[in-house]
Amino acid sequence: MALARAVGDRPAMRMGNLDRRTAPSHTTCAVCGTADARLLSTTTLEDGLRVTVCGSHKVAHRRAEKMARSVDELRMMLCDRRVAAG
Ligand SMILES: [Zn+2]
Repeated sequence: MALARAVGDRPAMRMGNLDRRTAPSHTTCAVCGTADARLLSTTTLEDGLRVTVCGSHKVAHRRAEKMARSVDELRMMLCDRRVAAG
């Protein structure tokens, strides 16, 4: 049980790990993962949970015929085509 003193110093790289459900980031788009703060905004899921997304995905969600119930559904609805984006 070694103490990992370096943890928390810098964010861990999560390349290849698409499961962000347990740790929703507030600094990247939940759909495409863009981290450009100028593009980031928020959208609201059906249950009222606020999710960080980029401007284009905010608009895409608003235009969708229904609200997503989860981040996963949001991603599916908005057809994430940038699965390889790091
Ligand atoms: Zn996006």
